[in-house]
Amino acid sequence: MQLLCNLFGHRYEVSKSITYHVKEYKCCNCSKELTTNGNGNLVELTPKFKEINFILSRVHKKRQNKLRREGLQESYKMTS
Ligand SMILES: [Zn+2]
Repeated sequence: MQLLCNLFGHRYEVSKSITYHVKEYKCCNCSKELTTNGNGNLVELTPKFKEINFILSRVHKKRQNKLRREGLQESYKMTS
């Protein structure tokens, strides 16, 4: 599997959407993971970035819930 990546490059697919701009990607061949950093560049998904993304996604979800509560009253989910 790794050989395919060495020959043709990784095949990344979005594995998780953190915010509108930040996403996590996973190579479907070798499971190498990438993420978008603060500058919008793709970087390796290290434990440190995982932590940052976890916090980001929590903040993002909270903000979404707040927006939904203030705007459309329909079907918002309390995630925290
Ligand atoms: Zn790969």
